[in-house]
Amino acid sequence: MHEMALMGDILNIIQEDAVTRQINQLEKIELTVGELSNAMPDALRMAFAIYKEQNPQLFAEDAALFIHMEEAKAECIFCNCHYKPTQRISICPSCNMPSGKLISGETFQVLSYEGSQKK
Ligand SMILES: [Zn+2]
Repeated sequence: MHEMALMGDILNIIQEDAVTRQINQLEKIELTVGELSNAMPDALRMAFAIYKEQNPQLFAEDAALFIHMEEAKAECIFCNCHYKPTQRISICPSCNMPSGKLISGETFQVLSYEGSQKK
């Protein structure tokens, strides 16, 4: 489950940033996850729950993870039609060429996070 590693990276990034904001307890993390980003939302939620259990000092008791899915969209470079691809490299449904260029759906990023300073 590579989502454990992804979530670990996310938490490292957030913790580094949180130090500069004098936040030492996380309450909410929001992620944007593209449909074609290879990260499974359910696995991310599970990874979050595991990290939360392993690091009780880092998370508020009701800390939560919110995942915003980004829809996969592609545009054909030949006929300019827009469609919804099921893979990174996709066949244009109108001209049947492997000419789809992804417009969105690969994002994997921290949208925001919230926390507070625990005394
Ligand atoms: Zn096309």
